[in-house]
Amino acid sequence: MAKQTAPVNKNTIVEVTFEDLTHEGQGVAKVDGFPLFVPYGLPGEKATVKVVKLQKGYGFARIMEMSEASPDRVEPPCPIYKECGGCSLQHLSYEGQLRAKQKHVQDVMQRIGGFPDVNVLPTLGMDNPWTYRNKAQVPVGEREGGLIAGFYQKRSHEIIDMETCMIQGETNDQLVQHVKEICQKYGVEAYNEKTHKGNLRHIMVRTGANTDEIMLVLITRTKDLPHRKAILEEVVEAFPNVKSIVQSINLKRTNKVIGDETRVLWGRDVIYDTIGGVKFAISAQSFYQVNPEQTEVLYGKALEYAGLTGDETVIDAYCGIGTISLFLAQKAKHVYGVEIVPQAIEDAMRNAELNGIRNVKFEAGAAEDVIPRWVEEGVEVDVLVVDPPRKGCDASLLETILEMKPKKVVYVSCNPATLARDLRVLADGGYGVGDVQPVDMFPQTGHVECVALIELK
Ligand code: SAH
Repeated sequence: MAKQTAPVNKNTIVEVTFEDLTHEGQGVAKVDGFPLFVPYGLPGEKATVKVVKLQKGYGFARIMEMSEASPDRVEPPCPIYKECGGCSLQHLSYEGQLRAKQKHVQDVMQRIGGFPDVNVLPTLGMDNPWTYRNKAQVPVGEREGGLIAGFYQKRSHEIIDMETCMIQGETNDQLVQHVKEICQKYGVEAYNEKTHKGNLRHIMVRTGANTDEIMLVLITRTKDLPHRKAILEEVVEAFPNVKSIVQSINLKRTNKVIGDETRVLWGRDVIYDTIGGVKFAISAQSFYQVNPEQTEVLYGKALEYAGLTGDETVIDAYCGIGTISLFLAQKAKHVYGVEIVPQAIEDAMRNAELNGIRNVKFEAGAAEDVIPRWVEEGVEVDVLVVDPPRKGCDASLLETILEMKPKKVVYVSCNPATLARDLRVLADGGYGVGDVQPVDMFPQTGHVECVALIELK
């Protein structure tokens, strides 16, 4: 129990032992039961820390001197690790990261889901946990009249210029650099968040890992893009694998990156990539997993948990461009996919056609609205796959699942907290929670993806 009054004050210097690690990579130490969150502290380490801030019930501190370092501690290889808000676990060995993620999922299952005994398997990691990202999305700004593009500083919207990111695919970094230089040369104005003036907001690059096709997206505040022709020519000349250049117009004052209106400036409106032998068309607005190597591992697990024999009717809720749906359709009788972004559903239909897969049906809409209607229309589901965004499944969708009673639910989740919350609802409604498999889709960061198998008792 946390005490009412803090046993430390601001600026108190105290010797602590770290007991835990938050998913944001902060060490947790307790002083007479009062938790202190300390950047870069690792479980088992002893250090002298200085309290920098107190809140009700907890505080923040900074490491002054390490007296006993963890055997899992490594020198972060990235030179900008401490400033950048992207990675948070580079000071922990990769093996240590995988263990920490498994433990985090176990803790959350227990604390939020009330599942003390659920079987959380060891995290499936990568052989080379670097340069894995197929997508770069960098904010553009100005400094002393020059264009900068890179990353947001930790806990801020201050842009820091960057040339390479160690978790980013190399071609993505090179193209971002090139675009930055060209835009600088032609005097393209960077967008300014504070004044909502200027134009170029973000540069986004996506590469098909198995096709090497590249899409460049220039996200602008206005419809204008001066020197457009010259910019495009220079990009295509230097990067012949660029198959699509798109402008996305985002008129709003918002943190959302991609705007509502897109137009093709050069080439196609999509690039192609393959996952496990299935070919996918990907457009600028659509969600597509950022770690292609681990996506195959993740989808492979989902397929294994679905245990299809060829006779099953499957629903893939939150289907995006139909990646999981088409993966499963090869082994199922019929797959229904639902997704809220209409453009993604257009891609999904196109992807089904591209692969000659006919036993699928896609519909645009909210899963919680569309699935109850399918049930009313007589669709009988054997396996339901859900892969919701971070906020988890809509409560009414969980109710629908309990009414539909599919034999199996395969839950793919990018947020263990909402996974645990939703599994509790399904468990209370008559389902048994089987294995939970963490998959490391985002090495060096605190994020962890899970696949869980839930079966009707
Ligand atoms: N399964 C896909 C996409 C997962 S990401 C893949 O692996 O690629 C989650 C998806 O859910 C996004 O495409 C998002 O647009 C969609 N989404 C968000 N809220 C939704 C809702 N209420 N109903 C259906 N889809 C939703």
